[in-house]
Amino acid sequence: MGCSVEGVVAALRSAAEVVTAHRDELVELDRVIGDADHGENLKRGFTALVSKLDLSEPPATPSAALKLAATTLISTVGGAAGPLYGTALLRAATSVGDAAELDAAGVAAALRAALDGVVARGKAEPGDKTMVDALTPAVAAAEAAAASGSTVAEVLSAAADAADEGAASTVPLVARKGRASYLGERSANHLDPGSRSTALLLRSFAESAGG
Ligand code: ADP
Ligand code: MG
Ligand code: MG
Repeated sequence: MGCSVEGVVAALRSAAEVVTAHRDELVELDRVIGDADHGENLKRGFTALVSKLDLSEPPATPSAALKLAATTLISTVGGAAGPLYGTALLRAATSVGDAAELDAAGVAAALRAALDGVVARGKAEPGDKTMVDALTPAVAAAEAAAASGSTVAEVLSAAADAADEGAASTVPLVARKGRASYLGERSANHLDPGSRSTALLLRSFAESAGG
């Protein structure tokens, strides 16, 4: 089964709930190797997005919903993560085009576009201890699942599982991008907050899709 605009909006609302529920956890992770605002930044952005979804005309297409999320996060999240997640969502919106419904291959392609956007914007490579370490394996897993005939929910579950592992893999790394890189070797032995939020967001999308 594909994913309609209602499905995309439900996924974005589910992301807002998950980000809010994990606000303190993300703040604590960012307190250790950053400036203790990642959870608050994301909560503010997704809360603003839910307000827009509640107050304005519902988006007409999956692309319009993703674009609304992108512009809202860009203008409200701030920090490093706002422009990065905003760019990710903007690229995803472009990738899905005017499709009324996303199939498994479309979801995998949107995730690939999102990763390309994050890398274009932030110039991080895998191993730099950033959200790229969660998103890169997630995209590979999503593409493999889509290629083997999985449903949208299964594609997103595979992506979320791989993102969990990717986030965990950041623990021993020394940060080479973002605020945590200012700590040098002292950034090692801590989970990167952005990789954790990426894994949480993908899990919320998967659960919203029924996976
Ligand atoms: P800030 O560091 O400006 O306070 P946040 O705390 O909201 O921003 O986000 C920090 C997260 O952003 C990091 O944990 C990391 O995953 C991600 N990040 C930072 N710089 C980059 C980058 N250049 N590329 C990819 N992700 C990055
Ligand atoms: Mg921060
Ligand atoms: Mg900050």
